[in-house]
Amino acid sequence: MTNIHPAYLFITPETQAEQTVITYLQSILCEKNSCNECMSCKQLYTKQHPSLMWLKPENRYTLDDLDELFKKISFTLEESADFFFVIEQAHLLSAACANALLKIVEEPPRGYHFIFLSHHLQAIVPTIRSRCIIKTITTAQTNTLENIHAKNFIQKTDPQTFLTYLSKTTITESEIVILIDFLITHYTQQLLQKTATGDRKAYNFLQDLLKFLHQTTQHQIMPGSGKIFLKELYLHKNNLERLHD
Ligand SMILES: [Zn+2]
Repeated sequence: MTNIHPAYLFITPETQAEQTVITYLQSILCEKNSCNECMSCKQLYTKQHPSLMWLKPENRYTLDDLDELFKKISFTLEESADFFFVIEQAHLLSAACANALLKIVEEPPRGYHFIFLSHHLQAIVPTIRSRCIIKTITTAQTNTLENIHAKNFIQKTDPQTFLTYLSKTTITESEIVILIDFLITHYTQQLLQKTATGDRKAYNFLQDLLKFLHQTTQHQIMPGSGKIFLKELYLHKNNLERLHD
């Protein structure tokens, strides 16, 4: 099929990401008009279709996570065959992974296509973003994660309120990674504003906070240690606020 672009980026709420891709692939791979009943459709729903490799990160993507993809793409496809790589939670691609992918995303071997999935356009590495056709699928319930969690780390939250939030939250490790990305974007925008207004105190605070946030992205968050991580983040931010007051 010649009219399929090498790379797409679907921006969709997390709950709809999977269905969005399956519906799209059905429109290409099902020969009976997305029938939901043929072998092809069933294989798509179980992600077992022979023309599909679906990647989902444990936490952040590592280069090891991309091994299978590179192995597959080194094989030449049969004439007129198509193959799709789906990269779920594409905002969790590290810069190293994005760099490793750049060349094949830009000019994949004949028949190979990439579909990057995310709910968060701004958190996608720009070099990947710029090589994709972007399709945005919106619903009323976007940004829920940011609304629920981020406010605890953006507003001044008193310790008691924070501990109550912490005891009740069911945030997962991979959602924390998204949260950190969101906070980095938020505080970087703040930093740019403070640079413009010349507010030295606020500028230094934001610079230290961003340094800390960037450091946290260098390490995996151990399964089960998400709440401890959030508590440390909260305490560190409070300490910095006091230090720069
Ligand atoms: Zn079908």
